[in-house]
Amino acid sequence: MGNRMEHYETEVSEYDCACGAGNYTISKYKYRDDYSSEEIKTVSLINCSTCKDDYLAADQYIVPKQLDQILSEATAEVNNLCQVIKEYSLAHYKKDMIHYVTSIPVTRWYALWQIISPSIQTFRKDLKMLNGQANAFEYHLMGNHENTIKRIIATLEKCGIEDSKLSQWISDLGVLTHKETQAKNEINKALFKGKLNKKYVTYEDPYWI
Ligand SMILES: [Zn+2]
Repeated sequence: MGNRMEHYETEVSEYDCACGAGNYTISKYKYRDDYSSEEIKTVSLINCSTCKDDYLAADQYIVPKQLDQILSEATAEVNNLCQVIKEYSLAHYKKDMIHYVTSIPVTRWYALWQIISPSIQTFRKDLKMLNGQANAFEYHLMGNHENTIKRIIATLEKCGIEDSKLSQWISDLGVLTHKETQAKNEINKALFKGKLNKKYVTYEDPYWI
């Protein structure tokens, strides 16, 4: 066995499906190695021809496919607009932004960007390294998350930059984010958890091993 992960058991939970004609199962395939590290791979399966068309299995629940689709679209729209805002801001105002954050005390930069990790001490040390300021600027604006956009917006405000295109996008982003939150709430309301029919352990290896 050594440090190779090997399957040792599978815990299967079977629940009633939403229409009641079939069921859905959540199988937790458990693996471990000689050093007692464990890994669990979870596979959900809907065993009902009706519910299979309308639902997706998600952990112990099944979720209407239609709502999941709406949420995926809403999330994609938020992410796309975040990317547009970031690219535009950096293309037009990167110099102003870097100039601003590097001219204020480190603690104010840290607070303005609501940085949690690394600690302020490490952040301060990182800035003193070769190209530290430029690297920190890039690093803490990585990705197109809403968090990144908040940092950009806060910095542009401090720089006193007014840009009607950006203002419009930022207001659009508020609308899209709200839509995404609503889609999440709809899913939470619609989560279906059937009655647990049985729970058992099997030792048969999964087909993919
Ligand atoms: Zn069903």
